[in-house]
Amino acid sequence: MTTIGHFIAGQHVSGSGRSAPTFNPATGEQIGEVLLASAATVDEAVQAASQALPAWAATPAPARARVMFKFKDLLDRHMDELAALISREHGKTVDDAKGELVRGIEVVEFACGIPHLLKGEFSDQVGRGIDTFSMRHPVGVCAGITPFNFPAMVPMWMFPMAIATGNTFVLKPSEKDPSASLRLAELLAEAGLPKGVFNVVNGDKEAVDTLLTHPKVAAVSFVGSTAIGEYVYKTAAAHGKRVQALCGAKNHLVVMPDADLDKTVDALMGAGYGSAGERCMAVSVAVAVGGVGDALMERLAPRVRSLKVGPGNDVASEMGPLVTKEHLAKVRSYVDLGVSEGADLVVDGRDLKLQGYENGYYIGGCLFDNVTPDMRIYKEEIFGPVLSVVRVPGFDDALKLVNEHEYGNGAAIFTRDGDAARAFDYGVQAGMVGINVPIPVPIAYHSFGGWKRSIFGDRNVYGLEGVGFYTRLKTTTARWPGGVRTGAEFVMPVLG
Ligand code: NAD
Repeated sequence: MTTIGHFIAGQHVSGSGRSAPTFNPATGEQIGEVLLASAATVDEAVQAASQALPAWAATPAPARARVMFKFKDLLDRHMDELAALISREHGKTVDDAKGELVRGIEVVEFACGIPHLLKGEFSDQVGRGIDTFSMRHPVGVCAGITPFNFPAMVPMWMFPMAIATGNTFVLKPSEKDPSASLRLAELLAEAGLPKGVFNVVNGDKEAVDTLLTHPKVAAVSFVGSTAIGEYVYKTAAAHGKRVQALCGAKNHLVVMPDADLDKTVDALMGAGYGSAGERCMAVSVAVAVGGVGDALMERLAPRVRSLKVGPGNDVASEMGPLVTKEHLAKVRSYVDLGVSEGADLVVDGRDLKLQGYENGYYIGGCLFDNVTPDMRIYKEEIFGPVLSVVRVPGFDDALKLVNEHEYGNGAAIFTRDGDAARAFDYGVQAGMVGINVPIPVPIAYHSFGGWKRSIFGDRNVYGLEGVGFYTRLKTTTARWPGGVRTGAEFVMPVLG
């Protein structure tokens, strides 16, 4: 059993506070104890970040970028170790854990180009002898609050951009799988990041509330569920901070009658059941348009029945366990609910038992047909390996369905028809769209974010949106002695 503490000012510390057990979801065994930071311990981390801020903000951008280059190299070299650590606490397969690391590393690679991204704008001779230039400055101490489902990637959506732009950072990872963040902190230190620039506090509501209200925290990035995200947004904004809160989802994949059904089914399997459906970009609703439903179900159901479920460290597993016993109970209860609401449970994974892993948090893939928009299993985010098929007569009904859902993270269409694809892309109320791509997570030099109740705040994460979120614009207008304008001016200056 390991004790998982905090990383403050370049050191592992225990601080003060309560603790909680951590589990291996594959076996159900307790494997550790995570210390839950008290307000005093969080304050220590914020003070460390605040003290490190002036020197780091003044460090030339190319020097900050060099730390990112070294960090990227260390991440590559420690890929296997990090993936095993993630799989052990989260439950996802080791290969999938490597996938999330690669997507996080892409943001580090983007952050390596920070000198170019911070170049600013310059206009000469905006008036006679007068120049104007705009530069981006760090905002200060930034906080990140992250969910359990991507314990390395989601923190890396945030801190590489925040640090590269000259801020210091306090990360509060999920208490369900906290170890990866501490290892990332060690690797950043090895890469040469000065003490106090990146800190990790483990904890729960007490730690989060301290960050949201701390006078020395300037910006808060949150990723997690909508209920908590809305609370984080309102509380932090009320305390004068800039906030981006990326939240829950119910992503639809629209299957047009002309879609390549074999490829569509492959896509639904990966996007619906990969990582046991515990992805914010997982597809949880397939919308079968114009009579394609029967052919789709015929191909889909046997594939869901034959899903290989097992521990994340077994290379044969396509899907691991859910993250906790409580989450397993919640997902099971949603399947029960779907049955009582009248949907057809075509594949029932509720009774899956794995020999030798009887105490693990497993559920088999579940597939519902004839789900309707009034059902709670359609409206609410289940966050498990449960795919709902909704049948609609035409394209317009499909688009309306997607647009009327309260969430708008990702949406996809599978079709061979360019006109339908274009109309879907143009009209859909979602932040990320896939055309024959089931999980359209943008590459690091674009940026990630949903619409509607899948986000609070007006900036996405990473890419140029990340640069914007973590910087403040300063625009200077300069004139040097000897210019033509002298003396006091009492009217609003008009340049020219
Ligand atoms: P969660 O909202 O339970 O937890 C997220 C973070 O908030 C954790 O660090 C947790 O400790 C903290 N937290 C939990 N309860 C709190 C409270 N009462 N007060 C203050 N802080 C609290 O989310 P989760 O279960 O860890 O993650 C799954 C959710 O995250 C899903 O809804 C999923 O869609 C969402 N998610 C969204 C995105 C996205 O980019 N939109 C990405 C990944 C996950």
